[in-house]
Amino acid sequence: MNRIPVSLAALAALALPSPALADLLVDNVDGIRIDADGKVDRFTGLWIDDDGRVKEVLDRRDDRPDTDFRLDGEGRVLMPGLIDAHLHVMGVGFGALTLDLSDTTSLAEAQAKIAAYAEENPGRPWILGGGWNQEKWGLGRFPTAADLDQVVSDRPVYLERVDGHAGWANSLAMERAGVSAQTEEVSGGRIERLPSGAPSGVFIDAAGGLVTKIIPEPRPKDRDAALAKAQERLLSFGITAAADMGTTLEDWQTMRRAGDEGRLKLRIMAYAAGVEAMEAIAGPRPTPWLYDDRLRLGGVKLYLDGALGSRGAWLKAPYADDPGNTGLPFLSPSQVRNLMSRAAMDNFQVAAHAIGDAANAELLSAIEELSDTYDGDRRWRIEHAQIVSPADLARFGEHGIIASMQPVHQTSDRLMAEARLGPDRLGGAYAWNSISRTGARLAFGSDAPVESPDPQAGLATAFTREDANGQPFGGWLPMEAVSREDALKAFTQDAAYAGFAEGRFGRLVEGERADFLFVDRDPLFASPAELRATRVLETWIAGEKVFSAE
Ligand SMILES: [Zn+2]
Repeated sequence: MNRIPVSLAALAALALPSPALADLLVDNVDGIRIDADGKVDRFTGLWIDDDGRVKEVLDRRDDRPDTDFRLDGEGRVLMPGLIDAHLHVMGVGFGALTLDLSDTTSLAEAQAKIAAYAEENPGRPWILGGGWNQEKWGLGRFPTAADLDQVVSDRPVYLERVDGHAGWANSLAMERAGVSAQTEEVSGGRIERLPSGAPSGVFIDAAGGLVTKIIPEPRPKDRDAALAKAQERLLSFGITAAADMGTTLEDWQTMRRAGDEGRLKLRIMAYAAGVEAMEAIAGPRPTPWLYDDRLRLGGVKLYLDGALGSRGAWLKAPYADDPGNTGLPFLSPSQVRNLMSRAAMDNFQVAAHAIGDAANAELLSAIEELSDTYDGDRRWRIEHAQIVSPADLARFGEHGIIASMQPVHQTSDRLMAEARLGPDRLGGAYAWNSISRTGARLAFGSDAPVESPDPQAGLATAFTREDANGQPFGGWLPMEAVSREDALKAFTQDAAYAGFAEGRFGRLVEGERADFLFVDRDPLFASPAELRATRVLETWIAGEKVFSAE
């Protein structure tokens, strides 16, 4: 759909260098927005100024302004652009450019896919990729180097587990990395071993560095290609802004190149991959918003523990399916507080990954202690907050904490979480509703590429607690579902708020950027299954069309 000039005379009178510098009326739409109280507001027209900001939201009765351009929405559904509060931009791009095993349901299927990929890419010195999940394969164990050697033995292979918390190497990769039975354990990680003591091929968390340190770095042009791919993918899902969780200096430089050259369309709220990256990227304070509110480094990502799938999440009591193991704290209590202080003293926002109940309790305690010194509007972010002791839930309501959670993780993890924790420790598991009732603000995301970035799946899961097959019927711990309106709010304005972006984007209100979608159905009336099948027809950012399904 193209912008239609009102008249040639109007166009001639414009006398501006580019049609982008003109105001636009998007009219005859079935517009939806959610107000600050979570109530639905409907409208029929959107007047956008020449900076790409909303000038006025119009309903049926309002007079139409005389604008330079007018777009007939043909009665289609227009909704705010969706915002993902936690994903990995470059990971989405590289994931789409490397071997993706996320759709494999058995080891044999994965092996076939790896073999085919190796054959199709003879020029690649390493076979890299990820997305594997031994739980989904029903394997009952981690895969091994021998499983990989069967299909690729002439080139090194390194494949990340779907959650990014484990890596799977073939024998050649381990040989090149100098990893052997004599290699000592790494703090914050674990080398899976065979009964002989030799590494089995799987490396948990920090142990992955033993192999990844010898993988050749992608070149700047590879990174540019990955960012382009990530934007293409995210915009096609209707994501107009995202928090990038763990931005490295190279990631940031890639984003800056895109911004400088006018290739950055997506809005990125960046959180540096650790305090060193934070200082290297931004120096003494968060960066300003760059490129018309498209990029800012506002905070730092820290990790308190690993993930539940690889039993790296830090629990208060041992795993139900691994007695004696309580998982791994990544940082000592004083390290946690020191890193958070270093960020907070220079007004950087802290976004800390906490999955297990012990990690969440530790982070909540650290926030309580630091809030005395670092008062004011801090918006401490707890990323994931998957397993919380019921006794700790109320603590989320204090100190302006933001719970950054990913609805689809709940459906992917449900059976695994039951196995890891047992039936009696699920009272604060993926507890969106309980956490939101404490007064904490929920910001929703996908954690892509761990999960698909498709926000419709996240929305449908958020108010049903059912997966794509409608399982379990009636929802898993259904009292933890949130309303459809609140889910939409957590995927738009509250995800913006979580990144200090309110007033700039996230809502279709006067003065904010006109980021919106045309979709083929009404997200407030569609059944969960219909919602999951939503087609994004067009994605617009700052009044400019950046994706079209046609
Ligand atoms: Zn993540």
